[in-house]
Formats: sequence, C-alpha cells, structure tokens
Amino acid sequence: MTATLIDGREIANKKKELIEKEVEKLKKQNIVPGLAVILVGDNPASKTYVTNKRKTCQELGMHSVLIELEDTVSERELLNTIQDLNIDASIHGILVQLPLPKHINEKKVIETIIPEKDVDGFHPINIGRMMTGQDALLPCTPFGVMEMLKEINIPVEGKHVVIVGRSNIVGKPSGQLFLNENATVTYCHSKTIHLKEHTKTADIIVSAVGKVNLITADHVKPGAIVIDVGMNRDENGKLCGDVAFEETRKVAGYITPVPGGVGPMTITMLMYNTVKAAKLHTEKLNNL
Ligand code: NAP
Repeated sequence: MTATLIDGREIANKKKELIEKEVEKLKKQNIVPGLAVILVGDNPASKTYVTNKRKTCQELGMHSVLIELEDTVSERELLNTIQDLNIDASIHGILVQLPLPKHINEKKVIETIIPEKDVDGFHPINIGRMMTGQDALLPCTPFGVMEMLKEINIPVEGKHVVIVGRSNIVGKPSGQLFLNENATVTYCHSKTIHLKEHTKTADIIVSAVGKVNLITADHVKPGAIVIDVGMNRDENGKLCGDVAFEETRKVAGYITPVPGGVGPMTITMLMYNTVKAAKLHTEKLNNL
C-alpha cells in the first residue's frame, strides 16, 4: 500500500484563484486588501517567510507593506508601530513575524493588534471566538490543515485525531478546530509517555513538533491520514517535516509531503484572512 499524496501546492493554488476573484470584487468597490508585515531582526528563516508572504500578496493583487525593524528595537517602539497600523485605513491585516527578540513580550505584541486586523488569528479574542465556535480570524496553519482535508473530501466527524504538539499557534488551535468539526481529539506533547501508543490509535495524525523523524511507520495505523506540519532541516540541510516520509507513506492512507504540504496552505489562509478582514471592515463602514 502506498499513501495518496495530499498536494498542498495544488490545493493552495485552487484556493488562491478564488481569493484573487474576491480581491477583484473588492477592487471594484475601491478597496484593495492590505497586509502589513513587521519583521524584527534578520533571522534568515523569518526573512524567507516574510518574502513569501509578500510575494503571494502581490500575486493576488493585494497591497503589501513590509516594516523592518532592528532587533534592538524597543518594545514600546514596536507597539507604537502596531498602533499606527491599527488606525491605517489602507491596512486590513497586521502580522508580526515570530519569534521576537527576548526583550520583547510576545503576548503584549499580539494583544496590541486589534482583533479585526489580527490575520494570524493569535489574539485571545479570536482564539476565544474560535473556541466557542463563533466566526473568527482563524490561525492560518490549523485553518490550512482543515481546508486541505475538506478539499479532498475527508470528513473528520467521529474520527480520532491525535495532535502531536500543543503550541498556542499550531497544536492547540488545530485540536480545537477538529473538535469544532466533531472529531475526538487527543493531544500529545513532550511529556507524553509512549507517544506511539496514542498515535497508533489515530485515524488522523497531525504532527506539529519540529523534530526530524519523530513519526515513523510504526507510529501509524494502516490507512491513517498523516498531516506533517513540521518544518525542519535534515542532516544534509534539506527541508523536511516531522514524519519519516518514505517509510510512513507505505503504511498511511494519505500523507502530506514537506515541502509542498501544509506550508503553501498556511500562506494561502493568511491571504484569505486578509481579504476576510477587508470585507468585514467594508461591511462595517457600509452599515454606519
Ligand atoms: P513549538 O512552539 O516549539 O511547539 C512544539 C511542540 O512540540 C510543543 O508542544 C512540545 O511539547 C512538543 N514536543 C516537543 N518534543 C516532543 C516530543 N518528543 N514528542 C511529542 N511532542 C513534542 O513549535 P510550533 O511553533 O508549534 O511549530 C511546530 C513545527 O511546525 C515546527 O517545525 C515549525 O517550524 C512548524 N511550523 C510549520 C508551519 C507551516 O506552515 N508548515 C507553520 C508553523 C509552524 P511541550 O509543549 O511539552 O514543550
């Protein structure tokens, strides 16, 4: 048995076409969805992510602004920059690329972005809305995972989903979105004993850890769906996920590759959120 590959690039391209159409519609009303990205310091991985996000914005005809700050920037200066963007009418989405230098309080930064422009979906208001099943700007990676499964018609209701990793930006919200769709969810993390015993019972495994070869063929029930969120470098410096891909694809029913799996979906959902934020903003103005 060889798993069916879930082609994140193809699904993301399909979604981007729809987003582009929405952008065109908004432009006819003289609204250009605008995304501001703040990059602090010169972390090479962060720079690559930011470049890709800006490139995608441009591809879709959206307005994009990059604000680069030195890694010595004070927390106050960063918060002031966000506050300026909060009231900038040409900007509908604000994203601060994480991680931030140690002297800056990440929570404070996230909470300074107004929830309406929080296109990363990290603000506690958006998280709370998501948890209570209300409309919200959803965290892009978990949102991308759900959209991917929807696109290939994999129902999640009643499925046992094991999420490996419990970060606030990927693991926890992923589990919540599956729960919202009536899956039964188990979270595993660094203190989990006998990881394999949990993952072996999963219909769907989502690995969001950041460890090469954490999930191997013997972690997977035959036919299970394996979603690899991890982004790592192997010993040759090649981009890879958390899953030992070649051996696991022989056991799994579906599998996402790295690269070309969850990554393209994350950026696409960021664009989706920015357009959604622009639309909500416009509706609000029209209702005044
Ligand atoms: P993170 O904040 O470092 O969280 C990692 C999680 O993994 C933690 O909850 C940790 O548990 C858990 N963990 C560590 N070792 C483990 C082990 N041996 N067994 C089980 N769980 C273990 O990372 P993150 O920001 O969530 O990102 C996770 C990965 O996804 C990274 O590789 C990142 O680059 C990637 N990522 C990809 C995308 C994408 O678009 N593809 C987007 C975001 C992130 P504790 O909570 O107990 O410490």
